[in-house]
Amino acid sequence: MATQKIETQLSMFHNIISNKPSSVLKAQDEIDRSMESDAAGEEVKLNLDATSSCQFALPINFATLPLCGLSLDNQVQDEAPFKTLMNNLPGMVYRSRNDRNWTKEFVSVGCYQLTGYRATELLGNQLIYAQIIHPDDQEEVWNQVQAACAERKPFQFCYRITTASGEEKWVWEQGQGVYSASGELQALEGFITDITFAKRAEEESRLLQTMIQAIANADDFHSALAVAIRQVCEATGWNYGEAWIPRSDGILECSSAWYSSNPILEPFRRQSELTTFAPGIGLPGRVGSSQQPEWIPNVSITPDSLFSRVQTAQGCGLKAGFGVPISCQEQVLAVLTFFMFESRQKDERLVQLVGCVAAQLGSLMQRKQVEVALRQAEAKYRSIFENSTEGIFQTTPEGRYLSANPALARLYGYSSPTELISSLTDIEHQLYIEQNRRAQFIHLLQEHGVVVQFESQVYRRDSSVIWISENAHAVYDDTGAVIYYEGMVEDITERKTAEVEIHKALEKERELLELKTRFVSMASHEFRTPLATILLGTDLLKSFGHNFSDDKKLKQLNKIEIAAKRMTKLLDDILLISKAGAGKLECKPTIINIKLFCQELLEDIQLISTRKHKVDFDCQGECSQLEMDEKLLHIMLSNLLSNAVKYSPQGGTIQLQIICENQQAIFRVTDEGIGIPESDRSRIFELFHRSSNVGTISGTGLGMAITKKAVELHGGSITFESQVGVGTTFTVCIPTIQPHQYSSIEPIRRVG
Ligand code: ATP
Ligand code: MG
Repeated sequence: MATQKIETQLSMFHNIISNKPSSVLKAQDEIDRSMESDAAGEEVKLNLDATSSCQFALPINFATLPLCGLSLDNQVQDEAPFKTLMNNLPGMVYRSRNDRNWTKEFVSVGCYQLTGYRATELLGNQLIYAQIIHPDDQEEVWNQVQAACAERKPFQFCYRITTASGEEKWVWEQGQGVYSASGELQALEGFITDITFAKRAEEESRLLQTMIQAIANADDFHSALAVAIRQVCEATGWNYGEAWIPRSDGILECSSAWYSSNPILEPFRRQSELTTFAPGIGLPGRVGSSQQPEWIPNVSITPDSLFSRVQTAQGCGLKAGFGVPISCQEQVLAVLTFFMFESRQKDERLVQLVGCVAAQLGSLMQRKQVEVALRQAEAKYRSIFENSTEGIFQTTPEGRYLSANPALARLYGYSSPTELISSLTDIEHQLYIEQNRRAQFIHLLQEHGVVVQFESQVYRRDSSVIWISENAHAVYDDTGAVIYYEGMVEDITERKTAEVEIHKALEKERELLELKTRFVSMASHEFRTPLATILLGTDLLKSFGHNFSDDKKLKQLNKIEIAAKRMTKLLDDILLISKAGAGKLECKPTIINIKLFCQELLEDIQLISTRKHKVDFDCQGECSQLEMDEKLLHIMLSNLLSNAVKYSPQGGTIQLQIICENQQAIFRVTDEGIGIPESDRSRIFELFHRSSNVGTISGTGLGMAITKKAVELHGGSITFESQVGVGTTFTVCIPTIQPHQYSSIEPIRRVG
């Protein structure tokens, strides 16, 4: 009898595992292999690929399964090993009728561990197996078995049962029909095992996965929080969830992220929005400070000191409460609090699950925050780059643009940064006017790493020229090599133009001041001397005139006359200069007989030369009918001739040569005087300038400036050759053309 029972059980077991579900056969293989290799036995996990949606590990302790390695075809000698085998299987072996109750005819002792009910209870009339199957799963279980049996195939599926203690468990069942020789279904035989752990792990992993995905897709920290709160509530049955964010002073503030499964909870939310929690105070404060989760089975009966919103919670019917920190690198990013309508003791698994979610969330949140910060920074800098009124650039050391902003494109006259980058490919030669300017720019960057207010003139696209000021620095790679230069460009053309204008105005001011000073010192000297002569002469004549001979009197009167003339000439010169400066000196040509004009002039000159000089006059060509301004010609020649006399104090020959040919009149005045030193030659025509070698020879430095002006008014030119101690020759060339054709003349150059 006993042997028969064992044989039945053994055949059942054999049937179960020989139904050829590959996973179970694999399990058998593994058991065999393990027995061969590890006689001592250790816990091995066998992966049973039950259904596509049910993946779990089935733990079998080989130490307690000493006979598993036996071939099932072996002749069974003893009942004991099979009992042990059945009893130690992590689940329940069964034989049942194929009815809606799943009436059990045999269950192994594992049924107690699986269901909390004893075998006797399941085999008797007190309890039918169908009752412990979750109501939502009962129909599916029935359908699965019937479908498999109809095709005479084994069945495998997962479903939920409620154990004797009320705990819900996920189980995996595999079995098959037992048929009579005539093919009639007589019973079902199979194996049921607890897969709750695996199922939960799978659910948790799914929850985490969806949450990670959702958080990753969220736009910012708060919407990521909102996603997390909603997911946790929906997956774990909490009715209300919210987040608390620490301010910089550590106080926790209610985040905009929250979830509620029921509108009745709105007053609770409103109160949260008005509440803050100091560190260590209230559920969020305590969780934030301890960085540990906290569970309150029923907040509505918790003292105010521990839960400040008791009354509102009571009003809304909230009971269990749970707080969990979201932290990263020991810094609390947020505290999540959840509440439900039921009172519930601490559920370690839930705490673990949410803790795990929170940990994931922590690192995700931090990444998210960094991402958001980066995005914001990028957007901010992009906006600055795009909207800056200053040009911004990045250029390669070779002189190409890597990037340019719209302002730079505008500045250089391009329609867009893209056009600028593609057209301006050689900064050194295309941009800067000064050819080595780019080299200087790079040199400064190499020396100092930065350039500040680097001012240059550059070409715009239309070849117009502007002034720019650049501030730039070099960007290096890890090896210290320059990757690119970046900086800003400002158009300073307006400032530069203004600077030039100011400089010109200042220069003019300075010139005027200098002129004034020179004029005052010259005038005081040049007036004082003849005035002194006049005063002395008149004094002498007054006091001693009655004793003077007529000749001596005449001499004195002559001196007075010369002094007065000198003063008159000075006044005339000043008047002429001021007229010329104001552009009021005009050229009014008339027909002149130059030869005659010069002969008369030379007679006057002869007078002042005190007969020390020999005067030569030579006139070539047709000079009798020239169209010139007589007054200006007089100024010109008298200045040249009087200088020739004045600056050859030792006497000598003074030559005046006139050549009228090729539609021009050439006047050449040569002397054998002191000459003009090299250093003074460039300034001879400046107002008030007198050479360094004039010594005591009197003069104002006005004559040559006036002469030059007179020449220019005739459209002519004046040059000279000189050798110190040998003599000087001035040459004036005047075109003999109609005066109205003379070009406009610049005012007299002052000092340079
Ligand atoms: P004034 O205004 O009374 O003529 P000035 O003769 O000194 O005074 P300019 O005629 O303008 O002034 O001549 C300028 C300077 O040029 C002179 O002071 C003198 O140094 C030099 N200079 C001009 N002509 C001669 C010359 N023929 N030989 C040597 N130096 C000369
Ligand atoms: Mg002179």
